[in-house]
Parts: sequence; C-alpha cells; structure tokens
Amino acid sequence: MSLRLYNTLAAAKEAFVPLDPANVRMYVCGPTVYDRAHIGNARPAVVFDVLFRLLRQLYGEAHVSYVRNITDVDDKIIKAHQRTGEPITSITERTTRDYHHDVSVLGCLPPTTEPRATHHIADMVAMIEALIARGHAYMAEGHVLFEVGSDPDYGVLSRRNTDEMMAGARVEVAPYKKSPFDFVLWKPSSADEPGWDSPWGRGRPGWHIECSAMSRRYLGQTFDIHGGGQDLIFPHHENEIAQSTCAHGGQPFVRYWLHNGFLMAEGQKMSKSLGNFYTVHELLSEFPGEAIRLSLLQTHYRQPLDFTRAGLQQSRQALNRVYTALRDLAAVPGAEPAAPQAVLDALSDDLNTPEALAHVFALVGEAHKAAPSQQAAIKAQLLGAGALLGLFAQDPEAWFRWQPEGAETLSEQAIAALIEERFQARKARDFARADRIRSELAAQGIVLEDGAAGTTWRRA
Ligand code: AMP
Ligand code: ZN
Repeated sequence: MSLRLYNTLAAAKEAFVPLDPANVRMYVCGPTVYDRAHIGNARPAVVFDVLFRLLRQLYGEAHVSYVRNITDVDDKIIKAHQRTGEPITSITERTTRDYHHDVSVLGCLPPTTEPRATHHIADMVAMIEALIARGHAYMAEGHVLFEVGSDPDYGVLSRRNTDEMMAGARVEVAPYKKSPFDFVLWKPSSADEPGWDSPWGRGRPGWHIECSAMSRRYLGQTFDIHGGGQDLIFPHHENEIAQSTCAHGGQPFVRYWLHNGFLMAEGQKMSKSLGNFYTVHELLSEFPGEAIRLSLLQTHYRQPLDFTRAGLQQSRQALNRVYTALRDLAAVPGAEPAAPQAVLDALSDDLNTPEALAHVFALVGEAHKAAPSQQAAIKAQLLGAGALLGLFAQDPEAWFRWQPEGAETLSEQAIAALIEERFQARKARDFARADRIRSELAAQGIVLEDGAAGTTWRRA
C-alpha cells in the first residue's frame, strides 16, 4: 500500500507524493528549552520519529531530511532566568541536553538537522525585511508586526472566522497593533534581556518567525511535511504559513500538515500551565523508556491519549512477552530483519500504530508455537517491525535487567559473582547456602532462572 497521510490543510487523508523522492523533507516544531519535557511534549517527538523511520524505509535513509528545531529564545526562558537567576545560556544548554537524553531513551533517532533559533537570527531578520518590502509588515513602537489584513489567505489551515480567532487565548491585544490579529515578528529587548542588533534596533524575534526562517534555511521555500501538536495549528502554524508564503511572493509553503492529538491527564490536556504533568525524567525512574514509547504508540496519533500509570505497567508487561519470545529465539541464526507487509500497510495508512502493534503481538503468539523451520522468519519479522516502530532493539537480557534511572542496586559483576557462588554451593550439595543466596538476591529484586544453559537473571 502506498503512503497516505491525514493532511490538516485538506481535512482529509491524502496520498503522499513527495516533491522530490530523492529528498523527502519534513519539519517538526521542537521544544522551547526552559524546563524538562513532559510526556505530552514527548508525544510529537515519538510520533514523528515513527514517520521519519517509515519515510526512510520507503525512500531510503539518505533521501529523507528531518529538521526539528530548538527554540532557545523565548519569553518563557527569560522568565525562568528572572525567577532563578540561572544564566540564560546555562538554562537553554542544560534543558537541551536533558531533552536529548529523554528522547533518546524513548528510542527517537536524532533528526537530520537540529537548528537553534539563536544561530539563525540573520535568517529571521532577512525574512522580516522581505515581509516589510512586500508590504506585509509594519513597524510600531519598536516592534515589527505582520499585518494579517494584507494576506487574503490568512486562516486556510485553522479555518477560523475572526470571532473564533478573537476567542483564541494566544491573540494578544496591544494598542500599537493595526488589528488584534497582527502578530509580532520582532520586538525590542531591554538591556537585561537577550537581544540582537537589527534594522529596528536591539531586539529579538517572535516565536513564529523562528520556524519559518529555519525551515526555509534547511528545507527550502516549499517542502513536504510539517508536524507538531494540535495546539500549534492556531496561531503558530497559521502564522508560519502567512509569513512564509508572503515572504516568498506566494510560493506554496508546506504540502502536508500533520498534527498529533493531545496527551490527556484526568480529562484535560497535559500542560505545564495546568500543572497536571509528569516529566519524562520522573517517569524514567519508574518505567523503562521503551514501555513509555509503546504506550504512546498504542493509540492512533490523531486521537487523544489518556495517560495512566496502569497503561505504562501494561506496556511493560507486553514488552516482557516480546522480549521473552526474542530471548527464546536468541540462538536462531539471524535472518535480515524485514517488517511484515501487514505492519508496513498499517503504518502506511496514516501511521496506524495500534493496528501495526496488533500484528506484532499476533506474531509473538506465533513465535511460541513456531516449528524450528519458521523461527528465523518470525524473528526477522519481529525485529523488522521493531525497527520501524523504534521498539525491540535491545538485547533481551538487557531488557530484563532494566533498572530505574539513578537507582543504586547491585552491580552486574556483584550479581554474577553471587550466581557463581551459588553454583559452587550446589555443586558441593550445600543447598541451604544456595537457597540463601537466591533469597538474598530476590530481596534485592533479582530473580534467578535456572535453565539448560545455566542460570540467567532479571530484575523483577
Ligand atoms: P512546547 O514546548 O510547549 O512548544 O511543545 C512542544 C511540542 O509538544 C509541540 O509540538 C506541542 O504541540 C506538543 N505538546 C504540548 N503539550 C502536549 C500534549 N499534552 N499532548 C500532545 N502534544 C503536546
Ligand atoms: Zn514551530
């Protein structure tokens, strides 16, 4: 089946046809680095990672460019600095490092390019100059504003009328604006705020222009896919469209707009402002990253996803079943991993990850009953499906030995030494001592499993 994606711009599923199959181009709005990512922020990272993997499979690894930015200039960052006194660059560098750690533990591949807003101020200034030159932007009280009335197509993505736009929380009324919908491209910075020299004085860019300028720099004026959470449709993505098409003399901007649904906690969108969030970091002290990833993929990306700890626990148990099958198949010579057609078809149908996972779990059931002649094929299919979903890539033993981030428990060497001691005790028929070692380990959460090939262990 060829790839079909739900395009917010068309409000329909459409066949995906890239502009240039030799360079398929995708941009996804990345984090604003002022604080740790919560599990809702992780949803777009994981969802668009699956799309990245699928595009690489369909078009070849060298033929997909995935750009995800870092927003490292923003009023939330300035507020964090004012609150704590920590220097701005320290906040943004620390938070960027934490973000990289979190998404890599969630199994996300690094994007092809990860531009930082502060490294692209000149691109933003150039784009704002083009908007002024073309009559789409004006200066007022040290600000440069985009004039929404100058763009007859404004609203194509969110299809809102002006009343609905006014109700949107993020439209800021200010006396210097010609219309309340006009939005900031550039604003003045006071001496203690980060700022750059520009034709309009020392200042800093607005949030929307950052993504327009960085996507233009790395993907060109027109590219294939732009992604982000549904909260970004209006005004962020609407404003990106206005800026980019107007700066480029009407050249089309993005061909397919994709938006993930919200991660919900107790019936509300998880968000920092509501305070109903769990950071990825805190969840990793309770659950393996792969269990978190599986939970995020068990619901279709456009649906709301109810976040619960019980759900994470179930995902962990489901992964125990997969890794048990892979452990049983460990000695089977590896065939080249290849995703089953049913999994590829499910993902090609607008990233239907729940259906793809249902096929994977059916395969796990088959693995238990498989005749030896079928085992290599099943293993190859499981690993191939896993490579597309960003799952099952660990050594099964490492999965069973997972321990929470930051936990202090027995080292692997100490466990191996105790297993050897127990082996010697049993050889000497000192079963009381052997049993004592087993219970001591059990008390520390280490479960021993005696098999034909010797004793293995896992964490309970
Ligand atoms: P932010 O750092 O708040 O700009 O968000 C980074 C990304 O996370 C954006 O693509 C948001 O749309 C997305 N996002 C934020 N909250 C949620 C949520 N509760 N569920 C899903 N996506 C979210
Ligand atoms: Zn953006």
